[in-house]
Amino acid sequence: MKKLGHIIFGFVLCFVFILIAGALELEWFDFGAKSLGIMACIILLYSLLPDIDHKNSTVTWLFLGFAILGLIWGLLVLLMKQDYSRGLLIIVVSLVFLISIYVCANYFKHRGVIHSLLVGLLASIPLYFIFFFEIQYPLIGLIAWYSHLLGDGFLFKLVS
Ligand SMILES: [Zn+2]
Repeated sequence: MKKLGHIIFGFVLCFVFILIAGALELEWFDFGAKSLGIMACIILLYSLLPDIDHKNSTVTWLFLGFAILGLIWGLLVLLMKQDYSRGLLIIVVSLVFLISIYVCANYFKHRGVIHSLLVGLLASIPLYFIFFFEIQYPLIGLIAWYSHLLGDGFLFKLVS
């Protein structure tokens, strides 16, 4: 499945999941403009994220761009604002991010362990803490991740 296919399938599967949750009267989702915007961004990202194990995937290049921007931002905070603790923190976080992307892209087999539900779960949990301690965002992240696995032909792949 190509990039656009993964994204469309991600939106479709999340929509179906939200409908089922609604039919079961599970009040997990809030549909304010802000929540919908965040969910759309999560679906866009997480429906492509498993391909971080591929050197030439869109997410790998996108994240590489984020990491490099983070490094530049950290350097600017350090040099222009002379705020050493904040500047260093941004640089360290960006470096860790950069190294993680490098390791994922180079040392993991494409469609290997990263293309699994367990890694999807681990990647979705931070969304809970980043987005106001609400369950809907990690859930959507996990469903979007799973949609990618389905699109690649893995019906159930817990680890590898
Ligand atoms: Zn894939």
